[in-house]
Amino acid sequence: MLNRCPNCNSKNLATRPIATSRSVAGHLFTAAVPGQTCCDCGEKVYAAADLARFDLATALALADAGETSGEAVRSMRKAAGVSAKKLAELLDVRPESVSRWENDRGKVDRATLAVLRQIIAERAGIPARNLVTFLRSLAKPKKLALRVALDMRKLDGELSGGR
Ligand SMILES: [Zn+2]
Repeated sequence: MLNRCPNCNSKNLATRPIATSRSVAGHLFTAAVPGQTCCDCGEKVYAAADLARFDLATALALADAGETSGEAVRSMRKAAGVSAKKLAELLDVRPESVSRWENDRGKVDRATLAVLRQIIAERAGIPARNLVTFLRSLAKPKKLALRVALDMRKLDGELSGGR
């Protein structure tokens, strides 16, 4: 929590959720992310952990929808907190494979998506989904809406800290 606005140095900061959106892989993800808004200049300030939770919520929605575009895979991998090199090591695949997935030159397989989702869920501190159910759902994924409203309250794990 800041005492002064980083933009105008005002002390007039309001602590309240900020309507936040991000476009990933053709979908607009929206959420009320905790933060502070400067009442004088309108500057919005987030804690890094809260933005990380927004990324995790976005990545979970992408994984649950079985999104396999390169942009979606990169976004999930980043939310999972692993480098492309590390992911290749973990999965025992060549780094070029990860690069292909992320550049739309090869479709990521369901097992990899399931692993990514599991890592993301662990980071978010939420229970893993039943693996068989999840893999079956990936065979017939539900189409993700163009606009996805995320409920940040569902991510109530380790990243939420002292709140
Ligand atoms: Zn300000």
